[in-house]
Amino acid sequence: MTTNTETPQITIPADLLPADGRFGAGPSRVRPEGIAALAAEAPEYMGTSHRQAPVKFMVSRLRNALAEMFVLPDGYEIMLGNGGTTIFWDAALFGLINNKSQHLDFGEFSGKFGKAVAGAPHLDDPEIIAVEPGTRTEAVARPGIDVYALTHNETTTGVSMPLVRPEGADADALVLVDATSGAGGLRFSAAETDCYYFAPQKVLGSDGGLWLAAISPACADRIESIAASDRWIPPSLNLKTALDNSRKDQTNNTPALTTIFLAVELVEWINHNGGLEFAAKRCDESAATMYGWAESRDFASPFVANPEHRSSTVATIDFDDSISADMLADILRANNIVDTNGYRKLGRNQLRIAMFPATPPSDIEALTNCLDYIIERL
Ligand SMILES: *Cc1c(COP(=O)(O)O)cnc(C)c1O
Repeated sequence: MTTNTETPQITIPADLLPADGRFGAGPSRVRPEGIAALAAEAPEYMGTSHRQAPVKFMVSRLRNALAEMFVLPDGYEIMLGNGGTTIFWDAALFGLINNKSQHLDFGEFSGKFGKAVAGAPHLDDPEIIAVEPGTRTEAVARPGIDVYALTHNETTTGVSMPLVRPEGADADALVLVDATSGAGGLRFSAAETDCYYFAPQKVLGSDGGLWLAAISPACADRIESIAASDRWIPPSLNLKTALDNSRKDQTNNTPALTTIFLAVELVEWINHNGGLEFAAKRCDESAATMYGWAESRDFASPFVANPEHRSSTVATIDFDDSISADMLADILRANNIVDTNGYRKLGRNQLRIAMFPATPPSDIEALTNCLDYIIERL
């Protein structure tokens, strides 16, 4: 491993640099326009009650804008609560799984929900279908499985999966999808899902602390029926409470107002520009540039071997042993291009680049030029 003292000092010429140097997968780049809008509206919005009109109106805008962006079928609705995706898993194991779930594990995040469920004494052991990082698999319909837990985009490996209901599943089985690094950047049909949940500090270029979910009527029914059963549910994780509050454009306890505001800014911006297709096209363009670069350089290659599995929101790029990816990330950081490091636990000589809609494809192009500039000088 290269130490900091051995890292060569390379100054990238200003005309090669991206307009914005933030390429992290979350928290991710926040559009300056969003920050400016927040500053302008702050005196009437920040520091005001979440039980009064200005904040409730912002929550309503967020729910409506997401419903529009996802083109939700009739009867679907947006719910929200505090705590981010990790807390949503705990809420879901109390409030959405009847007895037994099936989980596709193809990386750190997709594995975590299954692990949480495995420890829950009130549930049957989950079925975990695990595959090697960098690949993916499909759900397998089985009698008795009442929740299928999928992940739209595995943030730690840069693998995305198409969302389809498992054929032959029990009629009342629900499809839950962790879309934290996919929602707002990847195409999908909401009708293939019952609960498409995420946090807004990734694709949506907002900040942490909130979970959001697009839910089907069947999912709302499941929430109601489990809440009416005799199962003990920790009050702060009760999805029935979250659903009742969401329908009134509120949260059970105090939310981060900036997170809500910045998410509204980003989703409305996507909608004004043409909706999910606009956002997905932007990500596609960035991905074509990023993977195309890696494929055309003999010292780099996309980590995900199958082009169809490659994410268009998070790229993972492997480097030859002759080049230390950590050192590249350090040199980029010294030039104010930040958070390009690979996911530690994956343990590869790799850079990971977020290509969320807030990042213009021209900045991904600039990043590849910066990488070439550095590597030519090593
Ligand atoms: C980041 C991430 C999470 C965790 O989100 P938090 O809001 O930090 O809890 C879960 N799943 C995926 C796919 C993620 O990318």
